[in-house]
This record gives sequence, structure tokens and C-alpha cells, in this order.
Amino acid sequence: EKKEITAKEVFEELLIYIKSHNKNINAYISIIDTFEEKGSLLKGLPIAVKDNIMLKGTKTTCASKMLSNFESIYDATVIEKLKLAGANFIGKTNMDEFAMGSSCETSYFGPVRNPWDKQRVSGGSSGGSAASVASGLAIASLGSDTGGSIRQPASFCGVVGLKPTYGRVSRYGLVAFASSLDQIGPITRDVKDACLLLGIISGFDPKDSTSINVDVPNYTEFLSQDLKGIKIGVYEAALKSVSEDIAQSIENAIDTYKKLGAQIENVDLPHIKYSISDYYILACAEASSNLARFDGVKYGYRANGQTLEEMYVNTRTEGFGAEVKRRIMLGTYVLSSGYYDAYYIRSLRLRNLIKMDFDKAFSKVDAIILPTTPTDAFKIGEVTKPLDMYLSDTFTIPANLAGLPAISVPCGFSKNHLPLGLQILSNAFREDILLKVAYAFE
Ligand code: GLN
Repeated sequence: EKKEITAKEVFEELLIYIKSHNKNINAYISIIDTFEEKGSLLKGLPIAVKDNIMLKGTKTTCASKMLSNFESIYDATVIEKLKLAGANFIGKTNMDEFAMGSSCETSYFGPVRNPWDKQRVSGGSSGGSAASVASGLAIASLGSDTGGSIRQPASFCGVVGLKPTYGRVSRYGLVAFASSLDQIGPITRDVKDACLLLGIISGFDPKDSTSINVDVPNYTEFLSQDLKGIKIGVYEAALKSVSEDIAQSIENAIDTYKKLGAQIENVDLPHIKYSISDYYILACAEASSNLARFDGVKYGYRANGQTLEEMYVNTRTEGFGAEVKRRIMLGTYVLSSGYYDAYYIRSLRLRNLIKMDFDKAFSKVDAIILPTTPTDAFKIGEVTKPLDMYLSDTFTIPANLAGLPAISVPCGFSKNHLPLGLQILSNAFREDILLKVAYAFE
């Protein structure tokens, strides 16, 4: 006889499992053990939340010493929406400090381990959110994505990660990294779960001035195996720049799409080769401004000092890790009066050219496929140069610069037997097409 498992049983089992296994993965920074009976849609199912999203009653540390004791003072809009939809929360997940990184190695709480090979990184910055879902320590989670932080760890951990269109999901209650690029999105085991969570967290929010008032469709309605009439763009130059196994996984995806009835076309994106340079100027500029608030007065950690100035300096020297400091320095440099025009303004112009490349491509095709990452999950400690780390985001950053939605779905394994991700992009606010194309592949 079949017996239905209740949400409470799921929650309790999950807690036991987390308590025994989290130490191997280090996916969680804090665990929540209060279950509430809930009626609506999610029926009390527990969600894991990246530790840069405010959830009242928990700490929001951003995996930084600076906020290691910071209590969330309110619920982010995405949390409010999930609560209304009947969610519980099981924990706050580990990440790169202030979401700056691609490996979770910059966390003040130690690196997240990849469940497929614990000597390897989970990816980042939402590595805890991806690893928790991949290892069965969570059913679904929320991450944030500024330049790939949902999709890249999802790819490294073999799960689904979705970055929505900029403005689709409210950023209210997300600790800002680069405000013109940040979006919250779901990390899930499959595309259907991604549809469900995206539907819940999307929608206009007057508390976020960049939130956009467009209808939120019921994404699950569009799912089907039939892709007749759908045009998928391939950017061939990307396939030439990656290792053979990754190129092969994309070739296989192209074959699958042909079988599903989609039409394949080449697209040209002449400016995306400049995406990394562009992003690291713009993201650092915005970060240097956003992180100015952590001065020992208003939030979190405060160091000693004889004068106010000394207290500021000591707080920021002791409270931030090396990568965060590097970005603040880069950011203030490109915004300084002597370099603003040469770097910041030019980067804004370049961002527009990248957006125009996509506009042109999406006048011809419905979706574009790319690898999610140029490599599989690397070993912990293996990538030591910041610039090499930044290259992990080669294929994910363009979607953030252009504000487009993008998803990573598992697409096989590398020669090291590690998961690989297929990245799909669609035009702005066409998550319906994006999810349809992702679902058919899965
Ligand atoms: N890895 C990229 C960076 O370090 C992206 C981070 C993110 O998306 N939050 O900036």
C-alpha cells in the first residue's frame, strides 16, 4: 500500500541527513530547524536559501567576516512570496564572499565541496545552493547570479540553474553586489521544479525600482517535447574555444534538438569576446559603491580604532577578504575622475554593443545554446590566479550584461566523469521559450 510522505517527514529526514552529511560538503552556513504546517501550493516543502538573501530569524552573512553576526532584519520579497506559496526553509547556503568568485573558495566559512568529487570545487558563487541540491541535502534552493553564479555551480554539480531576465524577480532583500546585473533564481533537480519556483518568485515589486511590471505566465503550461517551429542559434566560435569533451556535449545537444524538430542556425555575436573585460570593470565599479556601506557603523563587524577614520580602515581591512578588497580597489580606480571616461563609460558603451548583438540574433532565432562553462569542476586550490578564475565566467557573463534569461541543464559528463552543463539563452521575458527548450532537452 502506498503511503504519502508528508512535508514534515521530508523536513525531518532532511534535517537528520544535513546534520550527518553537511560537514562533508559544507553546503550550509546555518541550518533552520523549525517546521510550520502550510496549506498552499508547496505544502510546507523546505527550500534552501543563499546566505546573501534576507530571511528573518536567520543570519545573512554573505560568507564574510564582515557580516558573520548580522541578523536578517526583514524578509526579502522572494522569501515573502515563497512563504505565501507554502514554503518552509531548511538553511542558508554557503557561497563566495559577497558572491564574488566562481568556486566558493573565498567563503569565510571554508570552501564548498563538489558532491561528485569532494576534492573539487562546487563552483560559485552559489556553490552551497547547487551542492545542497546535488547531494540531496536540499530539494530546491535559491541562488543569485551576477555573472554566472547560479548557472556555473549548477553545471559543476549536475543540477538545473536558472537566471531570470533582469527585472523579472525582485532584488529587494538581496545584498547587492552589482545592482545592474544581480538576479535571484532557482537551483533545482529538474526543469519542472525551476518552472514552479520561478513562477512563485517572479513579479513586479514596488520595493525594487528595477523590477518590471509584466505578466508572469504559468511556465509549466508551455512544457512539451515538441520543438517544431523553434529556431535555435549556435555560436560556433564558442565551441572552438573549449576542450573536446565539452564541444562534443554541445554537438550532442544540437543533434538532440534536431531530433526534437527544432531548426538549428548559426548566430554571430561579435562583441561577446569582450564580455569578461567589460564585466570586471562594471561589476567592480558597482561593487565598490555598494560595499561602501560596510564601514563598521551601520552594519556588522566593527574593529577598534583611536579615531573614526582609523575604525573605518581597520574594520574594512579586517572584515573583508582578499578578493573583495581587490574588487573594491579595481572599482574605485575605474570610477576615479581620471579614469571614469576611459574605463567605466567605455564599458557601458561596450555593454550596449553586446546587447545589440543579442537583439540581432534574437530577431532570427528563439533561443541560443552555449556551453555553461569552459571546463569541468576544477580541484580545490588548483586555480590560484584571479584572472584564471574570472575566465570560468566566459559564457555566462554575456546574459547578465544583456539582461537576458539563461538556464543551465545537465548535458552529460566530462572525461573526468564530472557533470557538464548546456546553457540556453532566450530573449528578455521569454522564460516560457527558455524553459520549453530546456525541458525538451532534459
Ligand atoms: N564569478 C563571477 C564573479 O566572480 C560571478 C559572480 C556572481 O554571479 N555573483 O563576479
